[in-house]
Amino acid sequence: MLKPFQADLHIHTCLSPCSELDMNPREIVDRARERGLDIIAITDHNSAENVEATRRAAQGTRITVWGGMEITSSEEVHILALFEGQDALRRMQDMVYDSLPARENDEKTYGHQVIVNEFKEVLGFNTRLLIAATGLNARRILDEIALLGGISVASHIDRQAFSVLSQLGFIPEDLRFDALELSPNVSKAEAEAKFASLKRFPWVSFSDAHHITDIGRKATTLLIKEPTLDEMRQALMDSGGRNVFWE
Ligand SMILES: [Zn+2]
Ligand SMILES: [Zn+2]
Repeated sequence: MLKPFQADLHIHTCLSPCSELDMNPREIVDRARERGLDIIAITDHNSAENVEATRRAAQGTRITVWGGMEITSSEEVHILALFEGQDALRRMQDMVYDSLPARENDEKTYGHQVIVNEFKEVLGFNTRLLIAATGLNARRILDEIALLGGISVASHIDRQAFSVLSQLGFIPEDLRFDALELSPNVSKAEAEAKFASLKRFPWVSFSDAHHITDIGRKATTLLIKEPTLDEMRQALMDSGGRNVFWE
């Protein structure tokens, strides 16, 4: 039987240089529960090192945690990569790490990149320059996500920076995103007026939370059987009555 699941699949943790320390797994899960979410995805910039702790923080709750990353392509396009299993995510992360510039993060300029556990304890700091663009172009990233069984989403396509439209001007035919994301402040009606030419893609909208109060400010309802990535993929394709919707 199909059921509605509230999904916010674009959440940063304190590992993202621009996020605060209160974005730790425990508080993220608590906030997600308060907001009535069913599925969240942890999508830090070019890293997935706080995903496992968030999964552990959600154990015994109603929240399903998917792993992910917001990968910056060589064209400076932000791409959400969503995975269910840890193995595929780790392989994607290895590839991303190998393609980041060799420079270290400048904490004074960009902030700390904190790796934590599910008990709000600091385990360490990621010293890579996670804010940088990887050497992987968008096409390569999409190919790799597909190969590893993930879902690819073009981040915040309406934004004037770091979106596929701001960087490339259009979406080339060979960039087959599984979905496009609209920013939380854009309504479906506004999106339909502005991006009518992109109706060939399914659209979703998430919070892109960098602060705890942002979590769930926007969510997409997935009408699916169970909270799995495969069910979401079918929903994006309108298969068997499954669907995605947001306002
Ligand atoms: Zn982004
Ligand atoms: Zn983001």
